[in-house]
Amino acid sequence: MAKKSIKLKWTLFITYALIGIFPLLIVAQLTLNSVQEYFVEERKKELLLQANVVSGHIGLSDYMYDESKTLLFDYDVHQTSKQSGYRIIVIDRTGVVVNDSNKTEEGKTYFLPEVVEALNNRDTATVQGNDTIHAAVSIMDDRSNCVGVVLVCGSISDIAVTVDAIRHNIFNIIIMLMVMIVIVITILAWWFTNPLNRSIEVIKKMAEGHFDQRIEVNGYLHTELAELAESSNNMAEKLDQVETSRQEFVSNVSHELKTPLSSIKVLSDSILIQDPETVPKEMYVEFLRDINSEVDRMTAIINDLLTLVRMNRQEVALKPLEINITDMVGDIVKRLEPIARAKNVSINYNRVREVIAEVEETKLSLAVSNLIENAIKYNVDDGKIDVSVDCDHQNAFITVADTGIGIAEDEIGKIFDRFYRVDKNRDRETGGTGLGLSITRSAVLMHNGSIKVSSKENEGTTFVITIPLKQK
Ligand code: ADP
Repeated sequence: MAKKSIKLKWTLFITYALIGIFPLLIVAQLTLNSVQEYFVEERKKELLLQANVVSGHIGLSDYMYDESKTLLFDYDVHQTSKQSGYRIIVIDRTGVVVNDSNKTEEGKTYFLPEVVEALNNRDTATVQGNDTIHAAVSIMDDRSNCVGVVLVCGSISDIAVTVDAIRHNIFNIIIMLMVMIVIVITILAWWFTNPLNRSIEVIKKMAEGHFDQRIEVNGYLHTELAELAESSNNMAEKLDQVETSRQEFVSNVSHELKTPLSSIKVLSDSILIQDPETVPKEMYVEFLRDINSEVDRMTAIINDLLTLVRMNRQEVALKPLEINITDMVGDIVKRLEPIARAKNVSINYNRVREVIAEVEETKLSLAVSNLIENAIKYNVDDGKIDVSVDCDHQNAFITVADTGIGIAEDEIGKIFDRFYRVDKNRDRETGGTGLGLSITRSAVLMHNGSIKVSSKENEGTTFVITIPLKQK
């Protein structure tokens, strides 16, 4: 669980870093490069301007040829250099340094590429190494002949300092942004993962079988998370119901099987305590008959249970075929008629029309048999049963109506429950297990149909099965 929330946190963090920090870093670097370039270009222009001013002045003052002006030449170069802060070197046509504001290079030959360019009348400014700019401008005499070159050298280390200061500021801003982002992400991660973690905790408990657990939905501001919590709660509710009904089922089954087992125990005990010599044979036979009927009852319960379980197994898909329902019900009626006659009950079968529907014959016929068997079992002497099969353009209708004892209004809702019997004693006599109607309903539901019942005590009961003619 903790692993998951960290993952989400890091996903958020990386996403924010990718869309927030990295573009910012790239933009900052590009901006710094352009700022630096701009400053250098401006400095080049400045140096060229300065070199032009000096070269114009030297040309006009005729310093290059008039030896009497050497002192003045020196003074001018020195003063201009001092005022501008740039080193000024004057080179003659032959490349020899004739004047240097620093005085160190005079007399040396200076054939630098920018000097050669300027001698060819192309004024240039270039960056030398990392921290100097050379601006070279030609000196013209009054007949526009190139008589030498002025080389102005200026440092650009101050530009690097300025750019560094800007970089430093941007870096500070980015650090602040990152701190803010970390705070925001931590809050966001908590915001998202806290309710998720709470949900996960509860779901884990549910998985352990604590279906009474519910996720507290209050305070879930995110609709999707609230939806998730509500869905989980609904799921827990369903699981709770399934678990309760499972437990009920198990306890019902145990109870139902315990009754015949206790009878068998009592019967066998009462024979065993007798002296075998004195017990008449008829008594053995009678007791054994009773034990036998209890075993039959247990067998009936187990068979019905197996049928019900098979019906309710979701993975067992219905295998429908086109069946003539009218004939199918006719066969059932024919099969049950002798039993009805034995109980002095008459069955009237009304074939309203031929109905063909897609059904699984064994399942539907079990459902209908149960209804007719009940109509016989819970009928009165001289009673009647009306069975009919009809349809409309969509559904088939199978109706079983009897003139029997009926079902009290408050019992009707419970008769489809497993093991539910209105009159337990009577049903034990009739051999009912209380599972017949559950089986019928499961079979009908498997056919995507429905079953309705209407009944009046001492008047009779009517069951109507509705199933679609075609299964999707
Ligand atoms: P059983 O095996 O006991 O018949 P069912 O599930 O078939 O179990 O029926 C449940 C209960 O519903 C029965 O015990 C009976 O009390 C009542 N019942 C079912 N069908 C009828 C009917 N046609 N008339 C009156 N009561 C009925």
